[in-house]
Amino acid sequence: MLKLIKEISKKSRVAGTEQCNKVRDILIKKLESLGHQIEIQKLPFIGWEVIVKPKLKINNKNIEVLPVIWSGSTKGILKGILKETSSIKTFEAYKWIRYKIVDGIKTKGYVITRPDIIWLQLIDQKSKLPYFMVHPKTYKKIKDKKNIKIEASIKSKFIKNQFIYNIITKNNSKKKIIVCAYYDSILNAPGANDNASGVGALMEIAKTNKNIQYILFSAEEFNKYGSYSYVRLLKKEQLKKIKLLINIDMVGCGKPFCICSKKIQNTIKKILPKTTQIITHPSPPFDYWPFYKKGVDVVFFWSVSL
Ligand SMILES: [Zn+2]
Repeated sequence: MLKLIKEISKKSRVAGTEQCNKVRDILIKKLESLGHQIEIQKLPFIGWEVIVKPKLKINNKNIEVLPVIWSGSTKGILKGILKETSSIKTFEAYKWIRYKIVDGIKTKGYVITRPDIIWLQLIDQKSKLPYFMVHPKTYKKIKDKKNIKIEASIKSKFIKNQFIYNIITKNNSKKKIIVCAYYDSILNAPGANDNASGVGALMEIAKTNKNIQYILFSAEEFNKYGSYSYVRLLKKEQLKKIKLLINIDMVGCGKPFCICSKKIQNTIKKILPKTTQIITHPSPPFDYWPFYKKGVDVVFFWSVSL
């Protein structure tokens, strides 16, 4: 399991990129070597690339900044004043504080942040205006201040005609149990825990249990694009056959943590060790969500590091 995690976590594997496709091929081979037949689901995908890294000056001082995926470029250097505006939600779940960069009266871009932690993130809807993400320490400095001067630049490119690939094992059962994990990662991260660990755990189960269907989704890090597409393309009868969806995500470090549908909580509690924290309110940011929304019972394995 560790060998596989190491092998696929050498570089970041952003959905749609060549590196992600290389990892796809490794995973297909692995599943085939375990005796599974594979179906590939190829899906059109809009990719994104930073051409020139973001730069941001606040009141003439250089500030550490991250780009926000699926946001546009500045035309040269954008100069303006910062004004707080409505917050933004990503992944249907995470709330970000948002500022407009206003040049005269026009909004030319945005700065987003959170008071606790930030992580590389995309905005769910493609935006022509550029977004810049700043750390909580910067938020503390700009909060409650007025007439903050901004200078910012970024160049990014949308790439059409890209594809992502869900890897699905063939299974003709009338009552299906699916185990899923996603294999893409965020930009600039090896994604060992997030989520090569889940892929590794799935492979361990796939070694011995041939009755289960296994799905390795791609583009989870793009608001669950892979799993959303999979569920969207299922026919009603196919959806009905799914009795349980088990989702494994970031199980590499920390205390075991489980989220499950209320309906099946008693069974889950009986099976899991008493030390596992169990929550019965499934929430949007994970691959089980598109299934759960369609009425499929779900179990989600995660870990929390404290
Ligand atoms: Zn992730």
